[in-house]
Amino acid sequence: MTPPTFDALIAAGRGRLREAGLSEANQNALMLMLHAFGDTRAALISAGNAPVPKAVEDAYLAAIERRLTREPVQHILGVTSFYGLDIRTDARALIPRIDSECVVEAALDRMPKDAPLTIADLGTGSGCLLAALLSQRPLARGEGVEASPEAASLARENLDALHLADRGAIFTGSWAGWQGWERADLIISNPPYIASGEIGALEPEVRDHDPLSALDGGADGLDAYREILTLAAGGMKPGAWLVFEIGHDQKSALEGLIAQAGFDSIASGQDLGGKDRWVAARRPH
Ligand code: GLN
Repeated sequence: MTPPTFDALIAAGRGRLREAGLSEANQNALMLMLHAFGDTRAALISAGNAPVPKAVEDAYLAAIERRLTREPVQHILGVTSFYGLDIRTDARALIPRIDSECVVEAALDRMPKDAPLTIADLGTGSGCLLAALLSQRPLARGEGVEASPEAASLARENLDALHLADRGAIFTGSWAGWQGWERADLIISNPPYIASGEIGALEPEVRDHDPLSALDGGADGLDAYREILTLAAGGMKPGAWLVFEIGHDQKSALEGLIAQAGFDSIASGQDLGGKDRWVAARRPH
């Protein structure tokens, strides 16, 4: 039997993913073949009609099987792109989302390029927000705070792989147990913000594969913000910035909580999909 060509295998994988109702079947089939192939997209395109080596075929079919169980493509690839960085991604932490790139932008707008700032990322997860900020501000130093030891280990791997470990450290522990509140010039956070009752309705890729502790924000989704704001109002440096990722329907609730906590210069913005995605504020002098 002649082995199948790359084009034929990709088409077959695409068909199976599509039959299973997956929305990005075409893109997924291509990405998974690229991963199994282990070369560039250009090389894969020119190999289109060539027979697929058995080892590549086996790796590709195994990847398609994993995807059919609704395991996220980012976990299968083991890496995803965030703010131009390759971030290692697996079940230890929330997958970095494109939506969070605008939160990085909002923080960078509050970080002068020539200042040796100290930053912190509360609930750093994979470390993607911290890594993006450090990569854009070579004079900055920072700390990621992470309660999950598994996520903390992934964040450390990412800082190491991106050569940012000399300026970035990960503290494993709670926000209340962290001692850095007074040091930070800017604190960024993408905390869990989904209301507990809405978790069940999330896509299986999110519900069954992102850590619940990275998603579940309590009865109204706002528990983590309340906790951070209480600690921030007591401990942050005057003039320091707080930048939060938020759920698309949380802007006015968050602005209210932030004003109540005594912060000023409140601003907000949207992601590329036009949804409210961040709120920032400053601890007054
Ligand atoms: N943005 C994520 C989602 O849509 C939620 C992440 C979070 O709770 N911080 O699933």
